[in-house]
Amino acid sequence: MSTVSDPQYRPLEDPSAGLRKATILVIEDDPSIRRMLSIAFQDTGLTAVEAETGNDGIRAAVKHQPDVILLDIGLPDISGLEVVQNIRVWSKVPIIILSANGQEHLKVSCLEMGADDYVTKPFGVAELMARIRVVLRRESLASGPDVNPVFESGPLRVDMATREVFISEERVKLTPLEYKLLISLIKHAGKIVTHRQLLAEVWGQEYADESQYLRLYIGYLRKKLQEGASFILNEPGVGYRLLVTEPPLK
Ligand code: CA
Repeated sequence: MSTVSDPQYRPLEDPSAGLRKATILVIEDDPSIRRMLSIAFQDTGLTAVEAETGNDGIRAAVKHQPDVILLDIGLPDISGLEVVQNIRVWSKVPIIILSANGQEHLKVSCLEMGADDYVTKPFGVAELMARIRVVLRRESLASGPDVNPVFESGPLRVDMATREVFISEERVKLTPLEYKLLISLIKHAGKIVTHRQLLAEVWGQEYADESQYLRLYIGYLRKKLQEGASFILNEPGVGYRLLVTEPPLK
């Protein structure tokens, strides 16, 4: 339960903050992982629904309309990728992939198909809860009536109305491409964006395989953002994630 390998996912004082009343669908054939999750969810007051196969999972998603889906990639009937493809046709529900070592390729495909995030087994409960909280918060922000043109995380502040970027209140001048790349990361803040997604959004679909552009411009951006650079996390072999700092707890 304490295998939090990633320093950004520090357990919070109240691990259930912001999670109450959400329904989580767990699609996973490994009973020991389902048991671990159901114990963790009981402690937070979350409602959990379980499915052991991909097809049962899809049916459960239709029936229970969960707020978040945790999806194992290796299922006995159809693959997790097929489950993502099916669900994304009719739902935007956040999907967090549970992936094992050696499933990197499938994991990237799932993210490109519209999954929101992944954790790699074995994962810690605190890490998973932090990721669930991020996707739930993104959902509530996305559906809220207010659109805030100012993005803030740590020392980074971006005013999208005036296109101004600040690090610790100091103005940073970005080129149009660097700014576009930063906005793409902000649009997906907190979640992983794959190399192909970023290349397609910033340079265009025909550049989706030109990962050297991306490396180069991430480098430029990091250099200009100075201490804000540590907020652009590299997810090796997958993509990048712009770290969002948690809002202060009440
Ligand atoms: Ca499995």
